[in-house]
Amino acid sequence: MYAEVIIDQDAKALDRVFEYIVPQGMPARVGMRVIVPFGARYIQGFIVALKDSCDYDEKKLKPIKSLVEDFSAIKSEMLSLMKFMAEKYHLKLASILRLFLPSEMREGKVKELFITKYTLNSEVDITLSKTAKKQQEAIDYLKENISATSVELNEKFGASSIKSLFEKGFILKEKEQINRVPLVGDDNLKKVTLNPMQENAINTITENKTYLLHGVTGSGKTEVYMHLIEKELAKGKNAIMLVPEISLTPQIMSNFKARFGEKVALLHSGLSAGERFDEWKRLFSGEAHIAIGARSAIFAPLENLGIIIIDEEHEQSYISESNPRYNTHVVAEFRARYNSCPLVLGSATPCVESYEKAKKGEYTLIELPVRANGREMPKIQIIDMINELRAGNSGIFSSQLVSDLANVINNKKQAMIFINRRGYASFMRCRECGYIAKCSDCDVSLVYHREDNRLKCHYCGKQFKVLDRCPQCGSENIKHGAVGTEKVVQELKTLFPDVKILRMDNDTTSTKNAHQKILNEFKNSLPAILVGTQMIAKGHDFENVVLVGIVDADQSLYQTDYRSTERTFQLITQVSGRAGRSQEEGKVVLQTYAPRHYVYKFVSNYDYKGFFKKEENIREVSNFPPFSRIIRVLFADTDENYVRDLLKSCYNSAIKLKEKYPNEIIYMDAMKSPIKRMQNKYRYQILTRVRLEHSDEIEKDLFEIVDKASKNSVFFEINPQNLS
Ligand code: ADP
Ligand code: ZN
Ligand code: ZN
Repeated sequence: MYAEVIIDQDAKALDRVFEYIVPQGMPARVGMRVIVPFGARYIQGFIVALKDSCDYDEKKLKPIKSLVEDFSAIKSEMLSLMKFMAEKYHLKLASILRLFLPSEMREGKVKELFITKYTLNSEVDITLSKTAKKQQEAIDYLKENISATSVELNEKFGASSIKSLFEKGFILKEKEQINRVPLVGDDNLKKVTLNPMQENAINTITENKTYLLHGVTGSGKTEVYMHLIEKELAKGKNAIMLVPEISLTPQIMSNFKARFGEKVALLHSGLSAGERFDEWKRLFSGEAHIAIGARSAIFAPLENLGIIIIDEEHEQSYISESNPRYNTHVVAEFRARYNSCPLVLGSATPCVESYEKAKKGEYTLIELPVRANGREMPKIQIIDMINELRAGNSGIFSSQLVSDLANVINNKKQAMIFINRRGYASFMRCRECGYIAKCSDCDVSLVYHREDNRLKCHYCGKQFKVLDRCPQCGSENIKHGAVGTEKVVQELKTLFPDVKILRMDNDTTSTKNAHQKILNEFKNSLPAILVGTQMIAKGHDFENVVLVGIVDADQSLYQTDYRSTERTFQLITQVSGRAGRSQEEGKVVLQTYAPRHYVYKFVSNYDYKGFFKKEENIREVSNFPPFSRIIRVLFADTDENYVRDLLKSCYNSAIKLKEKYPNEIIYMDAMKSPIKRMQNKYRYQILTRVRLEHSDEIEKDLFEIVDKASKNSVFFEINPQNLS
């Protein structure tokens, strides 16, 4: 027998199937990991097919050396998915397979955690000499306790006594595997009666289709998800539920753990390597039935899926922007169709692409238009910050926000202050000549962090000393610019010195379980103010939050990106949704320097449909997705001459596609990437925008041109989230 093997190496030249002989008697199966000879060494690979004849010269084929384990680590669905993703995203096979296994398993870093336990051997008569007192005590102890760990026994009775008992056959070893179960918050099992709209959603979502669940913040989507999952578990099926990022996890997890207990496995980047591995194994072995996690949990090793849910489906984090690049929606759709089960995309602010699909009937739209507990949506008041300036207030907070905050504090309630940026302040800028401090490797502005008084690069993590003199003109008038979370906290502490003020952003949550600690502290403090970035915008359900302040709403409007208005709408809706979720009415104070921008009109009326219509129209007229496809081909290398030449030759061929598709290519050009250097690699790109019709063919042609010309792999990005 012969095996087709993919070598676990991330090199373009090795990105194909290699044939090996399966030695007589080796119980090889498809999906198994194997060790094979490769050149002068041994290397790990995956069997992707078995066959009776070989395509190459048999005499040149080598035998598989050994199997890594006696089961198929890659199940057959995942092999199909591998082929699909390779075709769809032009990815290397090995890099896709790596997504399917915990890295610890691939690299063999973390071993399974075993501890030895001892029990009495009931098959023999235990007779000990009178002098062996310790041994007798150990036997008595085991009679009473039935079993005990070697650690405990050695400590109590001495390692030599235990060893001697074992050698005489009086006690038996049993190996027991310990799962490192990750920490989750306090269990809160809320019992609610579903309202008719929730009932309707649950009864509708039954088919092998994609559903868009458009429910306002607080409409009880989580409750719908849990019922859907419950229904599938009862049928003996499994479920995957994706949530956008780690900040959501503690609350959702504790809800799910309370409802489903050990059936839930958690997969996210905040876990230790060991925890991740253990959770993965619980899913793989069928011990756990629900995988909950961020993007990568879509690759959970579950078979027999009954439902896949993507909560906050509009979130950017569902698109992988580093290699291997893929869109989670597309992968989820593949798995749902493979398992013939529903895929549910839930959001209060669906992305324009998804809503467009619902409009066209590709997705089934289900709406939850009101809050589950019947409360009104919080009123959003728009404050014109230019008026504040004219009135002599040049501070961070409008007088309205300050007085509303004072009210909240007097009533012993809670407020959240949202700021769309991390760090104390952003750029370091020379007021004389305009010089901005940049990272030496990445060519992006550095961000000032007050805690350690350093400038940091958010792309590569490099740190730099703060400048006290402009390197360009020598001026000492060099300052840090806009407001960040730290600055807001500092100002609040001056305004309200006795109030508990907490901060949540990337910097305060880098340690394990830090999110949960901050959230718990906030939950248990009255009055209190939580200041934070995007992290506080999503998912949280605090009953005492009655006020949300948005310090600088325009922040996300001015990115050079066709999606910036959509993102602003989503962000403001999400963060506003944190207010007034319980008994008390909520309010939102939105500070802006552009109060007449259309996004604020729609967002303050909770008019998603109105916003969608306007945005759809703008996209259609200007030929942007979902009415076109943007393809970026990114070339990056440490050798600038090499990338530049490569770019030129690819572009010369690519531009000829305009003859083949004269009406379909709206735009095509070759250029330096906006970030010209990142992690020491020079970055160039071909950027093109094409009409939807024939977009697949154009993409394929483009890929062939680039693939032929390049020695390394090149990144293809479809409708990239950011063009840095
Ligand atoms: P969403 O995810 O849609 O923003 P949640 O699922 O967080 O909303 O629900 C908001 C709140 O409403 C939660 O506290 C939840 O327990 C509660 N809730 C959900 N369904 C009902 C219901 N049918 N009746 C009363 N309260 C409900
Ligand atoms: Zn200067
Ligand atoms: Zn950098």
